[in-house]
Amino acid sequence: MNQRQLFLQHVAQTSPAPLALEIVRAEGCTLWDIHGKAYLDLISGISVCNMGHRHPKVVEAIKEQSDKYLHLLVYGEFVETPQVAYAKFLTDHLPASLDCVYFTNSGSEATEGGMKLAKRVTGRTEIVAFKHSYHGSTQGALSVMGDEYWRNAFRPLLPGIRHLDYNDPAQLDQITSATACVIAETVQAEKGVRAPHVEWIQNLRKRCNKTGTLLVLDEIQAGFGRTGTLWAFEQYGIVPDILLLGKALGGGMPLGAFIASHSLMATLTHDPVLGHITTFGGHPVCCAAGLAGMQALLQEKRIEEVAAKSRIFRDLLKNRLIKDVRATGLLIAVEFESFDINKKIIDRCIEHGLITDWFLFAPECMRIAPPLVITEDEIRKACAIILSSCES
Ligand code: PMP
Repeated sequence: MNQRQLFLQHVAQTSPAPLALEIVRAEGCTLWDIHGKAYLDLISGISVCNMGHRHPKVVEAIKEQSDKYLHLLVYGEFVETPQVAYAKFLTDHLPASLDCVYFTNSGSEATEGGMKLAKRVTGRTEIVAFKHSYHGSTQGALSVMGDEYWRNAFRPLLPGIRHLDYNDPAQLDQITSATACVIAETVQAEKGVRAPHVEWIQNLRKRCNKTGTLLVLDEIQAGFGRTGTLWAFEQYGIVPDILLLGKALGGGMPLGAFIASHSLMATLTHDPVLGHITTFGGHPVCCAAGLAGMQALLQEKRIEEVAAKSRIFRDLLKNRLIKDVRATGLLIAVEFESFDINKKIIDRCIEHGLITDWFLFAPECMRIAPPLVITEDEIRKACAIILSSCES
């Protein structure tokens, strides 16, 4: 059997038609396959490699930490310098009320932890989420996912979940004093990039304040500069009670986090003790990599380039087949008439050395979420491939 056949046989697949490209090397915005063919990466491993693949500072930090120690002891008993340094750096770049970080292994686990924390703090059980939202694939995170097609086969899930329409002010009064938390993506990614109306999200914050409900914002995909500010919530003049991070948080290594105030987080230390446990969450190598990635993001002033780069994509992506282009920074959805048209264009792009895909709840939309370090020349090249793929 060749590599591809071994991959299909022995590595569990949940996609009915995996791409199965054999990538042997990656750097910056480029991937190379076993035949030496180069691909320009427009999706960053789904918003992970914001600083490009194998940023030299990230690779250096991984090597340095690997020379000191790897995993030590579970449940945060030891002071591990990379965790402390990253938690300090993160919280220095967050509003004062978000000053305590619980590191997890993934975004889904951050969602799980955030929901547990909200229940623990409020003593309530009901959770409000939004239609077309994605918060992860574990059973708690799946329970708040805003799409019945993906949830249905796995019922029964968590009870007490209510899904409201995102951006609908008329439904905010369904958040009550029985609601532990509202969980929302600051920008809905998998619906094909749907940003909140400023007034709506501010009213959501106010409604949570009024009912004593915690506001959990999921920036697992939107965080780390992707939308043009370090955190997407900065654009809306609100601060969540709990912030969920993942993906770019680890600089290419697996890392997630839920972040809250020290006083909220302290509730997890009693009744029961060890209110949330993880063996590997906050792995020292992942924290070292994430910190190096975030420092590079800020030092290289990449976030300041996001708006201009987004504008180039929007200016260039004009074609009779393109119905709409929605963008918040470098999280961009290019809408076609149908999934079939989108898929054909995506396949042609891949043939021509450009990696892109579609969104989970918007299959008619092409995903453009490149590393933020993408150059203007690379953007022009990517757009030329997309436009010629629309025509061929
Ligand atoms: N929330 C959002 C907004 C996401 O985009 C994702 C991943 N696509 C997750 C949560 C779950 O993250 P993970 O796959 O690391 O569990």
